[in-house]
Amino acid sequence: MIASKAYAALSATKPLRPFRLERRDPRPDDVVIEIAYCGICHSDIHTARGEWGPTAYPCVPGHEIVGRVVAVGKKVRGFKVGDLAGVGCFVDSCGTCKPCRQHEEQFCQKHIAFTYNATELDGTTPTQGGYSTHIVVGEKCVFRIKKGVPLARVAPLLCAGITTYSPLKRYAIGKGHRVGVVGLGGLGHMAVKLARAMGAHVTVFSTSPGKERDAKKLGAQAFVLSTNADNFVPLVGTLDFIIDTVSAKHDFTPYLNALKHDCTMVLVGASPEPSALLASSLIMGRKRLAGSLIGGTRETQEMLDFCFRKKIYCDIELIPASQINEAYERTIKGDVKYRFVIDATTY
Ligand code: NAP
Ligand code: ZN
Repeated sequence: MIASKAYAALSATKPLRPFRLERRDPRPDDVVIEIAYCGICHSDIHTARGEWGPTAYPCVPGHEIVGRVVAVGKKVRGFKVGDLAGVGCFVDSCGTCKPCRQHEEQFCQKHIAFTYNATELDGTTPTQGGYSTHIVVGEKCVFRIKKGVPLARVAPLLCAGITTYSPLKRYAIGKGHRVGVVGLGGLGHMAVKLARAMGAHVTVFSTSPGKERDAKKLGAQAFVLSTNADNFVPLVGTLDFIIDTVSAKHDFTPYLNALKHDCTMVLVGASPEPSALLASSLIMGRKRLAGSLIGGTRETQEMLDFCFRKKIYCDIELIPASQINEAYERTIKGDVKYRFVIDATTY
């Protein structure tokens, strides 16, 4: 067993606290990673606080993991000791169903082992995430990280990056498209950078007036303060695509009205509560409201390689583990520029 220091949530209402866990000895296809950094995703907060339904405690959150390989099982071919490696939102899947064979493991029909608050394929062993010093993961769910990249700024690509890259690719966003990004947080700021890198014109919708300058610095050409309904009037029927990253309930109607006809708004933000929607905002203009869930292994490696090639990294605030609870509070207030990342030497 590999002793690992960590931070865990022990209940929905108490702050996270230091925790010890044992990682399994590597199986033949496992990679043992000494974690360097782990991002704080809003999904960690929803889960730690039981907002999406019951959470199995103790729960060590974290699915934006980067580090260095310190051991490999006998059958591992793609990694050796000393390599940089990343782990995202899942650590295993059945490997045989149609989505798995198509490298869209996030839709595994039998058993997807999410990185935390889930079980391994045996159906009983709990998975524990990246707020820790080590993790042991089967090679097929480990990603290659290029040497020389700013590692702490790469960590959030493993969730915030792939979650926004995947729908932009699926809807073939590129030059000439006008894209709306709703919510400028961890996912939102990556959506801006990626949509711009793909050649789109980007409008940010935000509830925070203080983020206008940042939105422009990140590459957005336009900023709309979404708390004032009047600001939506000039946008009606002007956008080709919208990605909504908001973590709390809000009215979809004004955004759908901003789409051109036949166009799509994709939800990636996963509010625990239902949001309002006026049917006519879809009907008038044959518009589509869709969802998207992270991305599969093939697309995640493709996204990482795209970001390395274009030097696209996350804007982060690096914190010691002792500040995780404060970081949660600030994230909920929308007060993070634009992702907290935990330094794993501080557990
Ligand atoms: P985040 O950093 O907290 O960003 C969310 C942003 O939403 C905030 O910065 C804020 O932006 C806006 N917002 C927050 N509360 C709001 C409210 N009441 N009304 C309107 N806007 C509000 O969170 P994140 O880590 O980017 O995650 C965003 C959501 O995506 C979470 O629900 C998370 O669970 C989900 N998620 C989904 C997937 C997937 O696969 N679909 C993957 C990862 C995360 P402004 O200040 O600009 O308004
Ligand atoms: Zn996430």
